[in-house]
Amino acid sequence: MREVSRKSDSSFIPDFMAKSLIDVDFRVLKERGVRYVAIDADSTLVPYRSTKLDPKVKQFLHKQRRYIKDWCIASNRVTNNLHILSKALHAPVVPTGIIARKPRQRYFQRIIKHFDASPGEIAMVGDKLLADIWGGNRAGMVTVWVEQLGDDGLHDRLIRVRDWEQRMINKRLK
Ligand SMILES: [Mg+2]
Repeated sequence: MREVSRKSDSSFIPDFMAKSLIDVDFRVLKERGVRYVAIDADSTLVPYRSTKLDPKVKQFLHKQRRYIKDWCIASNRVTNNLHILSKALHAPVVPTGIIARKPRQRYFQRIIKHFDASPGEIAMVGDKLLADIWGGNRAGMVTVWVEQLGDDGLHDRLIRVRDWEQRMINKRLK
């Protein structure tokens, strides 16, 4: 994981970048004041739409519990199967609503309320620059952008979301 140095104060820029979830340094996040972590599901915790948590990821995350008080799954996934991941990780799901979905602030307020913490004590970890990072930054959370795990869904491939993200990042990094 590396800390990102910004050219501008853009809310599209994460505080940290990491190759994957298991490269996130929770000790560093703790030093930064993070006590709670919201983890995106698709392409972050597991490949797109998967319900199988890699044992390596599971083991890693359980070890990180010493650095944080609590975590949750923060996902826009439409299929109703997040409870499988929730159980595997012992992490509750913060449910979305029709309007309360990432990157909308109404959803990030749900996360803040869930932890009953101040936004600066919460880290949002996710692979999407718009949904996870832009949304988390605007809510005042610490944001960690991880590279996508596996392939994107068809919709994201069609709209070339990763090309757009790369352009956004390149323009704004030092
Ligand atoms: Mg995702």
